Amino acid sequence: MNDINTVKQQYGEIASILVESGYITLDKIKYAARIQEKLLTTKPIIEVLKELKYITDEQVKTTIRKNRLNMRIGSLFVELGYITEENLQAAFDIQKESKTKKKIGEILIEQNCITEKKLTEVLSLQLGFNSIEPELMEIDLHLFSKAPSKWFETYHFVPIHKEEAGILIAFSDPLDPKDIAGAKEVFGENIIPAIALKDSIINTINKIQKGAKTRRTTEMDENSIIGLTNTIIIAAVEEGASDIHIEPMIDRLRIRFRKDGILIHYKDHPPEVAHAITSRLKIMCKADIAEKRRHQGGRIFFDHGGTQLDLRASFYATIHGEKIVMRLLNRQGQILELNKIGMYPRMLERFREEALNRPSGVVIITGPTGSGKTSTVYSCISYLNSPQVSIITAEEPVEYIIDGIAQCSINPKINLTFEETLRHIVRQDPDIIVIGEIRDNYSAGVAVQAALTGHKVLTTFHTEDSIGGLIRLLNMDIEAFLISSTVVCVVAQRLLRKVCSNCAQPHRPSPKELQRLGYTPKDILGGEFRKGRGCTLCRHTGYSGRVGIFELLILDEIVRNSILERKTSHEIRATSIESSNLITLFEDGIVKAANGVTTIDEILRTLPCLQKPRSLSTLRRLVGVSA
Ligand SMILES: [Zn+2]
Repeated sequence: MNDINTVKQQYGEIASILVESGYITLDKIKYAARIQEKLLTTKPIIEVLKELKYITDEQVKTTIRKNRLNMRIGSLFVELGYITEENLQAAFDIQKESKTKKKIGEILIEQNCITEKKLTEVLSLQLGFNSIEPELMEIDLHLFSKAPSKWFETYHFVPIHKEEAGILIAFSDPLDPKDIAGAKEVFGENIIPAIALKDSIINTINKIQKGAKTRRTTEMDENSIIGLTNTIIIAAVEEGASDIHIEPMIDRLRIRFRKDGILIHYKDHPPEVAHAITSRLKIMCKADIAEKRRHQGGRIFFDHGGTQLDLRASFYATIHGEKIVMRLLNRQGQILELNKIGMYPRMLERFREEALNRPSGVVIITGPTGSGKTSTVYSCISYLNSPQVSIITAEEPVEYIIDGIAQCSINPKINLTFEETLRHIVRQDPDIIVIGEIRDNYSAGVAVQAALTGHKVLTTFHTEDSIGGLIRLLNMDIEAFLISSTVVCVVAQRLLRKVCSNCAQPHRPSPKELQRLGYTPKDILGGEFRKGRGCTLCRHTGYSGRVGIFELLILDEIVRNSILERKTSHEIRATSIESSNLITLFEDGIVKAANGVTTIDEILRTLPCLQKPRSLSTLRRLVGVSA
């Protein structure tokens, strides 16, 4: 009989477990062993089995993970081919001679058989231990005080904090039964072993000891990585930024904030801190700290001055390291009242009367990313919100919190998908449904269906202009008559920078500017254009704050008919301008520039010009503004 111990002796521990768990037959191992003998270079049997395609990487990993507490670092490394049998034997000899009884892992590192980094990497990848950096984590000092620090030094670990499943503990060798026992003696059976570099553990123990003597240093210490990371986030909040960009470059770590839609430089840090800041942020959003080659995402909840900040983080692997972008969500107190979003009186009145106040139907706000469409949706919600109506949302994610409405943040990580949420939303007896974004035929169908059954639906779309939104909906496999009878309006939107009022000066449009606008000097009579000279208040940009530019398409009889007749976007546009008083984005921008709110540069930089604009006096009359 081939008993399992023989297999173990002959072919190693992993091989024997593979046989035991039925991944492979003994015959195949024997065959692989014969091949192994004939190879010119020495190769571990596991590698041979993999090359013969008898087993997969994944199966090896699963096997090791299942049995990880019975494994020894030394034999594992030999079997995986990271060190040789001779290396290991030599290490055992050294261990026997040394008085201090060093660990095998330590000796292998000292003998340059393997680097410490490789060691932790293998343990974390193969055995599934989380790799953490205690120096970058906030240690629960209460846990630390449960044993003398000598104890932590002896058993090479440091407790981090309490989690639901147990106490997270960083070990330099989570496979060492003595160390594990040492930790369990203090913290009980429920421990979650993680792996960390030995130096990081020792430094952490020393730091806490010092801190205990000189009283605990504050978390806001500028010199610590935690302090540095917090400072960046707080600075962004105080600056009123919407996004934080942390970018590794060859010679520095560049930090920029997006404010009013434009990136501004905040600070550079030496490239050495990049890794620590990245790791710290990954810890904050529970991303995988060992994974550096793949893109990742996460969410950070951060306490600042009594309010909880909510940030969405994205880690993007670049050639110089991971670029991190954090978007600040849930920024409260920034929801504008509907009459403050920047619509001119006549347009605003039509938007209210002919769209929002209608008992049912779909209202679509469209525009590219960063055009302010989400803010407009929130302004609409807050306009419609009252104790008499039930409002429910499906957002990805919730960006602002409004009291009195039921907001749901889509979370595909826990399988709370858009589709799943939309299936349930109509059963909640809502009056108004907010669908974060129409992104596919399914969500488009749900919006239209909900409107047909008497609901008011608010949603956003990702298109250049209002007619484009309509056309795209028509291309989404929904009958033209359903669209024409449910969609009540499409608003296209952009955000343009406002002229800084501190350094604004009158500006006379140059002939070239006029030409690019499609105007003659006569067309802009009565215009009072302005431009910022640049001052310290606007960081010498000449701009401060932003203003919304709108194009409101109401689906009246005429527009509906052109949809049913499947007219082209060009035709629908012409009809809307002629008979439905459509003001294009470009035209709305011109009126705002002529009133000194924004500049001609901004219009030409951001707004699509699909049609020659009408004269300023005509436009002013149409939007209901006098000069
Ligand atoms: Zn200024």
